[in-house]
Amino acid sequence: MRRLLFLILPQLLATGTCDTSLGPQQEGKHEGEMLSHWSYEDQNWGKDYPLCNGNAQSPINIDTGKATVDKELPSITFEGYNLKETEQLDLSNNGHTVQLSLPDSMSISRGFKQKYLASQLHFHWGSDTSPGAEHTVDGTQYAAEMHIVHFAAKYESLANAAQEADGLAVLAILFQVGAQDNKNYKHIFDKLQDAVEGATIKIPGFDINTLLPSQLYRFFRYNGSLTTPPCFQTVTWTVFNETVLISQVQLDKLKTSLKTGHRTLDSNFRQVQPLNRRIVFASFSSLTSSRRIVPKAGFSESDGTDNSANGIHFTLGDTLAVIFGTLFGCTALAFAIYVLKQKRQRSNAERGQKVIYKPAATMES
Ligand SMILES: [Zn+2]
Repeated sequence: MRRLLFLILPQLLATGTCDTSLGPQQEGKHEGEMLSHWSYEDQNWGKDYPLCNGNAQSPINIDTGKATVDKELPSITFEGYNLKETEQLDLSNNGHTVQLSLPDSMSISRGFKQKYLASQLHFHWGSDTSPGAEHTVDGTQYAAEMHIVHFAAKYESLANAAQEADGLAVLAILFQVGAQDNKNYKHIFDKLQDAVEGATIKIPGFDINTLLPSQLYRFFRYNGSLTTPPCFQTVTWTVFNETVLISQVQLDKLKTSLKTGHRTLDSNFRQVQPLNRRIVFASFSSLTSSRRIVPKAGFSESDGTDNSANGIHFTLGDTLAVIFGTLFGCTALAFAIYVLKQKRQRSNAERGQKVIYKPAATMES
């Protein structure tokens, strides 16, 4: 099986497995077409790709109340993410997603037990009738999701690393809709309409850091898989707690600009998979603060994909905080009333004594 996968892997990767596509220079839409015959409409991928029926698949629903807090999880530090304008990046539509190639001079230098090099980033989105993120949080599906794919430096290439247990590290960023365009994403979104299926366009390098949420130290971590066939269970997932805002216009561009064959490329997300016995770790304590916050001040939430007020996502920790806060408030108020009452009684008693005392003095005189 492993040998067979090794033989077919280059074709699988070349024909649009969204999480591990090689750079467009290595792509050829028609190569291995027989082997990459899968779609999002029929997600019964296991019959052609048995690993997709594995017990450690992605995406998953992240139940924040059940996540195991591990404050030892180190923050992620990036190197080389600020690309020069002279660095040309390939933007391509591989029929399953739109993907931006990244140079392997970009890396995650800290945050894992080993060094990971960047390969590409790509997006998952919904349609007019549905949001399109892959990971859900406490059952909420956000508007869209971006994956930044990295491979372990020791395996030297994405293709080599893709089948190794510790081969891949993918960063997931969830999107919500805000009131304004997110200018950091213009580099990509303004070019979407030019990304004809199978073609590659060039965009100048820019600071990839600006695509990330600001709180890089708050994230969920678990072991999972590629979210597309062949579903290798070799991905260490990092799902950031903080969402990134894009405008409705930008989200609509993502939903409508790209074509595959004669139809619009949309709803390219996999259904959530069973967690089974896996543990989801959180790098922060849900009992202190685990709100999904928005990165830029002044943005309002209006995408309708988040049922909670103002797009802020409350977890069990927040609920407990509200309950204990209310209880504490009530106790403090009751105590204050008691103290005031006591004071008033004492003062009345004192006044009473004076009243009694004065007539006695009068009687003496
Ligand atoms: Zn993906």
